[in-house]
Amino acid sequence: MDSLVLVILLVAVVGLALVGLVAGLVVSGRRKPQPLPDTHTDVVVSPPEEAGTTPTEVSAPPATIEPEAPAAPTLEKPEGTASRLVRLRQRLADQGSLGRGLLALLSRDKLDEDTWESIEDTLLTADVGVKPTTELVEQLRTRLRVDGASDPRTVLGEELLQLVGPDLDRRLQVTGDDGKPGVVLVVGVNGAGKTTTVGKISRILVAEDRHVVLGAADTFRAAAVEQLATWGERVGVDVVRGDEGADPASVAFRAVEAGIDAGADTVIVDTAGRLQNKQGLMDELGKVKRVIEKLAPVTEVLLVLDATTGQNGMIQARVFSEAVDVSGIVLTKLDGSAKGGIVVAVQRELGVPVKLVGLGEGADDLAPFDPRAFVDALLGG
Ligand code: GDP
Repeated sequence: MDSLVLVILLVAVVGLALVGLVAGLVVSGRRKPQPLPDTHTDVVVSPPEEAGTTPTEVSAPPATIEPEAPAAPTLEKPEGTASRLVRLRQRLADQGSLGRGLLALLSRDKLDEDTWESIEDTLLTADVGVKPTTELVEQLRTRLRVDGASDPRTVLGEELLQLVGPDLDRRLQVTGDDGKPGVVLVVGVNGAGKTTTVGKISRILVAEDRHVVLGAADTFRAAAVEQLATWGERVGVDVVRGDEGADPASVAFRAVEAGIDAGADTVIVDTAGRLQNKQGLMDELGKVKRVIEKLAPVTEVLLVLDATTGQNGMIQARVFSEAVDVSGIVLTKLDGSAKGGIVVAVQRELGVPVKLVGLGEGADDLAPFDPRAFVDALLGG
């Protein structure tokens, strides 16, 4: 009888223990962490080393599992072009010794031969070039001496404007046809400001709400690729890049391909600026252009020239224009040069207009070239 009681007690105790165990399991099961809402699915909640922790520890939502939103890059809002010239005008005026020097000479009481010679020298020193200088001096002589026109400032302003070419089409061809992006090829010697200019142009286009893709085809300089990537990041523009030493044409091809796939408005391709012999340059740029044109026409070829390089720059300009059909010139570093006359000389030499001018190292220090504003700035007005 005693043993029967003992057995019953034993069964009761074991039974209770089992009930307790099952209840415990049910509770802990309910405490399992719930999946996070959909928006957080890409966030890893528990690192693998926490897999063995007790249910209670996992279920308590510590602050550390609060998913962090990926840090959104802060994109810069580039300045629109309208305000640029106003802001940069002072930099042109600062290099305006050309206009001021000419005005001082032309305002003399007596315009003798010595004065005309000094006028010629001033123009030549400012890199205007021999032929345009001769033409300008002829015009000024006729209008100021023969016609007796009285206001040298007006006459000089009008003649300089004629020389710079007020009616040339300076618009950038940045859009393509048939739903394809416009393709802008940027060429020029190393150091001219090519990569910087590609970055600055992309900012102008972004400010106009255009979708831009950049191709870092200057694969001979790892720094150029990095530099362009940084420009792209700052305004949220994709940069297609290749490894150092990769074939520039293949990078250019991939960039245009990416532009087409993304429905971009414009693809800008930076190229290598090694000035080897003309044949080498022709082969390289020719190949880049040919390969791009398997996908889309190149709508603009911009030659970047450093305004401070004078005659050297002119020689480079000639070589590049023979290697590839240049459609526009970007004159950089006009802020650091008193030789604005190169605008005239290079346009004459290549027969293509200066479309943009670089007026500083700042991200938005590039402006569309406006002949009237340029001449006004030269004359300090
Ligand atoms: P790249 O070798 O032709 O690609 O030349 P970079 O774009 O690397 O530019 C060479 C140097 O020129 C850099 O230090 C630029 O900041 C500078 N630079 C470019 N454009 C201008 C400009 O318009 N004004 C001034 N002052 N410096 C410029």
